[in-house]
Amino acid sequence: MLKSSFGKQKLIPIPGSGRGPLDKTVPNEPGLKCPSCSRRVMEMELKEHKLCPHCGHHFPLNARERLEIIADSGSFQEFEVGLRSINTLEFPGYDEKMTQAINETGLSEAIITGKATVGGYPCVLGIMDPGFMMGSMGSVVGEKVCRAMERAIELKIALIIFTASGGARMQEGMLSLLQMAKTTAVLGRFHQEGLLYISIITNPTTGGVSASFASLADIILAEPGALIGFAGPRVIKQTISETLPAGFQKAEFMLGHGMLDCIVERGQLKKTLELFLRLHGGEKNG
Ligand SMILES: [Zn+2]
Repeated sequence: MLKSSFGKQKLIPIPGSGRGPLDKTVPNEPGLKCPSCSRRVMEMELKEHKLCPHCGHHFPLNARERLEIIADSGSFQEFEVGLRSINTLEFPGYDEKMTQAINETGLSEAIITGKATVGGYPCVLGIMDPGFMMGSMGSVVGEKVCRAMERAIELKIALIIFTASGGARMQEGMLSLLQMAKTTAVLGRFHQEGLLYISIITNPTTGGVSASFASLADIILAEPGALIGFAGPRVIKQTISETLPAGFQKAEFMLGHGMLDCIVERGQLKKTLELFLRLHGGEKNG
C-alpha cells in the first residue's frame, strides 16, 4: 500500500460531525486548521460540502456524506450490503484492523455501491471511503466494483464512481493486485455495451485504483487539489533523485498533462453529473 499525503495526516473525527475524518493539527483549540490557508475553521462553517470558507479547500468526505450531496434524496438502493473481506492469507492483525474499520465507519468495506438517481437520471453509483483502511482495494472492493459494472450493464444505465484510495490492500497480497486486472476486464465489457462511465477522482487516489478503474472512464473528473498518482511523490523523488515540479501529481498538474477532462469544485459536482447524464441520453425516472 502506498503512503500518500493523506496517510501522513493525523485524522480524527470532529465531535458532533459524524465520523468524517478531518485533520486537526493544533490540539486543544476549537475547530480545525485548514491545511491550505492555515486559518482556523469552525465545523459549522464547513457546511454539507465541507469546504474551507476562506480558501475553498476541500476537506475529506466519507462515503455516506458524499452520497448525501450527490444522490437524490431517498433514491439510493445499496448493492451487496454487508459483503466484507476475509483474512484468506491469515495476515497478522488484519482481522483486528477490519473490525476497527467496520466499527469506526459503520461500513463493511471501503466502497459502497448501489442504484440511485442524480437529478432524476438513474445510474449505478460507487463511492469509496478514504477512512476505511485508507480506501485500500482488497478482493471485496474489486468484487463490488465489478458487480456494480455488471448491474449497470444489466440495467443499461450509466456508471459513476468516486475514487479515494491509498492503493492495493497489502494484507491481501496478490489477491489485491488481481483486482486491477479484474475490474479492467469487466470494464472492457461495460465499454463494449456503449454505456457511459464517469469517474470522479478525489483526494487521494493512488496505487492500484488510480492504475485501473479510476483512469479508464469515458469522462474523468477530479476535485481541486486531489493527489492522483501510482507511486506517491516521496517514493518517486527517492527513486529518481530529482526535485519534482511544483504541484506534482495534484489534480491541476494532471489536468495540464492531459490525464483529466475537468476539475470540478464539489459544490458544482452534482449539476455537472446531471449535465453529462442528460447529454449522453439519460432518461429521467418517472
Ligand atoms: Zn482554507
